Amino acid sequence: MSFFLDVVLPLPLKETFTYVITPAEAEVLQPGMRVVVPFGKRKMYTAIVFKVHQAAPKAYQPKQIDSIIDSSSVISSVQLSFLAWIASYYQAPLGLVFRTALPSVMLLESETEIIIHEWERLLPTLSKNAIKLLQQVQPNSTVSLSQVQQLIGVKNPFPVLNELVESNYAVLKEEVYAQYRPKTQTEVVLHPRLKNDDALKQLLESLASKPKQHKTLLTFLQQKDTVVFSAFSKLETVSPSSLKTLIKQEVLVKQARVVDRLPAKTTPDNPLLPLSPPQEKAKTSIENHWKTKNITLLHGVTGSGKTEVYMQLIANQLRLGKQVLFLVPEISLTTQLMQRLFTFFGQQLVVYHSKYSPQERAETWGKINESRADAKLVLGARSAVLLPFQRLGLIIVDESHETSYKQYDAAPRYHARDAAMVLAHMHQAKVVLGTATPSVESYQHASTGKYGLVSLTERFQDAQMPEIHFVDLAEAYRKKQMKGHLAQSLAQAIEKTLLAKKQVLLFQNRRGYASFVECSQCAHVPQCPSCDVSLTYHQVSNELRCHYCGYMEQYAAACVACGTVSPQTHGLGTQQLEEEIQQLFPSASVARMDLDTTRKKHAHQKLISAFAQRQIDILIGTQMVTKGLDFEHVTLVGVLSVDNFLHFPDFRAHERAFQVLTQVAGRAGRLGDKSKVLIQTFLPSHPVLKFVQEYDYTSFFEQQIEQREQFAYPPFRRIIRIELRHKNMSSLIDAGNWLKHGLQERFSSVLGPVPPLVARQRNYYILHTLIKLPLDASQSAAKSRLSALLHSFAQVGAFKQVKVSVDVDPQ
Ligand code: ADP
Ligand code: ZN
Repeated sequence: MSFFLDVVLPLPLKETFTYVITPAEAEVLQPGMRVVVPFGKRKMYTAIVFKVHQAAPKAYQPKQIDSIIDSSSVISSVQLSFLAWIASYYQAPLGLVFRTALPSVMLLESETEIIIHEWERLLPTLSKNAIKLLQQVQPNSTVSLSQVQQLIGVKNPFPVLNELVESNYAVLKEEVYAQYRPKTQTEVVLHPRLKNDDALKQLLESLASKPKQHKTLLTFLQQKDTVVFSAFSKLETVSPSSLKTLIKQEVLVKQARVVDRLPAKTTPDNPLLPLSPPQEKAKTSIENHWKTKNITLLHGVTGSGKTEVYMQLIANQLRLGKQVLFLVPEISLTTQLMQRLFTFFGQQLVVYHSKYSPQERAETWGKINESRADAKLVLGARSAVLLPFQRLGLIIVDESHETSYKQYDAAPRYHARDAAMVLAHMHQAKVVLGTATPSVESYQHASTGKYGLVSLTERFQDAQMPEIHFVDLAEAYRKKQMKGHLAQSLAQAIEKTLLAKKQVLLFQNRRGYASFVECSQCAHVPQCPSCDVSLTYHQVSNELRCHYCGYMEQYAAACVACGTVSPQTHGLGTQQLEEEIQQLFPSASVARMDLDTTRKKHAHQKLISAFAQRQIDILIGTQMVTKGLDFEHVTLVGVLSVDNFLHFPDFRAHERAFQVLTQVAGRAGRLGDKSKVLIQTFLPSHPVLKFVQEYDYTSFFEQQIEQREQFAYPPFRRIIRIELRHKNMSSLIDAGNWLKHGLQERFSSVLGPVPPLVARQRNYYILHTLIKLPLDASQSAAKSRLSALLHSFAQVGAFKQVKVSVDVDPQ
């Protein structure tokens, strides 16, 4: 009798691949173990065991496996099923999903290159082969796995490689390039000799004659959290010169610490804050829903204190020994939240996101896989949903309406919110979706009883919601009441806010606001040579840039088309706005937060803390400033224009407009100060704006859901988008038509193909075709039909060069 083994190879293959194994191997191999297998011409890969069976593959003669790496499963059966679900639901190659989910050191292959570190001594635990290799290879040099094979004369170099990587003698080359430079901050601590109460008391007495130093030291001793030098030295009760003296005399000590890696927590976690009565009620009602439903939507207005509610729920799960996943849509949101979670759960908290180095991610992966006590609470962005949870009890999806939960640019194009619900189901864990502005889909599920629904309608401590007003731009222009791009009323409001020593947040929608150059004579607008967009003018560097492909050229004063000198710039970039505002308010400190100013690592975080510490009076920003930030002293939010949002040709455009305006408004008045939001628009009577003004989510939802039903959009249909890309327009159109006919034969509702807004990117023309699936149709059957059709598509000679990608539930 023959035995066969299905494995997942870390390659973009759709299916598992089959090998032949001996009965002895069949005996020991379990799903989730790793094996080394040959694949292709003389290449070796680490593969994950999926299934042992006895059905010989029909299409090919299976090869034998090379060796077995693990003695037990390194991937749980839940994790295996979850990754397989992602591959199948989002129509992504199974191997690619595994590659995305697993640390790269777990998936060595013969093409992998490693770099041997400088080393001083050989650990006594090293194997003979490891020693042999270390002695033959120059430190800091790169060797490929196949070279290792020859050097030490073994057939399978994987074990020795694993050993060297794990004991830190070597590193994978690809990981060196992903090097991550940690950010440090300077902190102040008490000198260890003063940790003793008597010594401290003596010192304080001796300082009686130096009141400034005395006061500074007292202030230091009163600080509850880590004392950051820069912020501390600015406190009112701190004298910078005394601080200097205290440091010189080694009473206080300055030290640098890496900040965005969590420090090991040495102090006990703080007890949680008591909940307000409405928060308490929300918490109890979530728990009640959980008796019958796994998922609950927490619809809480901005500033209602959802985080505090989450923390109570988290604490309960941790007490039960369960793991908790706290998902946030973007890393930039983690800074403030991380500090809050650290205070209360620092002993058990790990942070995980794709900007961390591969080593760090592998380390976290391992901790969670072992269900370690110091990694019970995981705070992470999208990819954290792929971690190997063992005893998952709860998933919090914060700001659950955010589209950044969906990966759109590369397969697997998964939605972390939706995948989280499936993962929770597999673990029989609970889910809370939290947001002030639920997606229409989520709210529909909550109002039809599929999810529990819990609302928090008041801000914490009854802080008032900001008053929202609209500024009619048409009228302001007509009456000549504009100061540049600001209506007089907005400018006056800013002035008043600055006088009251409060802060202003100005939001400018990025879409449609990029500034471009237009010749005043021939109206020529410089375009990107590879994309269908006009180039954006960057004043600081005097360059024209493409925001899609990064193309750059020096700005020329003479028009390339007609030669006229002094073309005009149009549109309003954040840069120009910043200048305008600075001129209008010369004594205010103005800063800007957009893609350009936050490209550098940590720039984003620096801006946020500078604003929080009131070093900035007016912060201008794009979408980035709308998201979940908690600033205490913002009492005015200005929105330059929303009209692009309202006009945007997408069935979710109004939903986005509602969300972004409600969220940006929610940044004001969080400490209870009376606050105001001014929104400039040419459409002051647009119905969506009315709903925003009245904080009337329910009516907004009812209007939206009716339209979704009428025009057959989600949640009444499922959408799959197929994207075709090709360098040649006419071949692309042929391919689009071929596909359209094929789709129309198989599906009842097919839209397109149509070019997207930017129809050519990086020299590729693009076409989108949508299929709408009714909810009752068997989804997996529909996906198989699609996948079979795309398979035949790929067989057509003329379409060989066409790139196809599938996006299930595009956002
Ligand atoms: P949301 O996420 O709902 O917008 P947050 O959770 O950020 O609101 O809470 C808003 C503010 O109120 C935060 O500064 C938070 O520290 C404070 N807050 C909320 N609940 C409590 C509580 N129970 N005790 C003390 N402070 C609270
Ligand atoms: Zn371009």
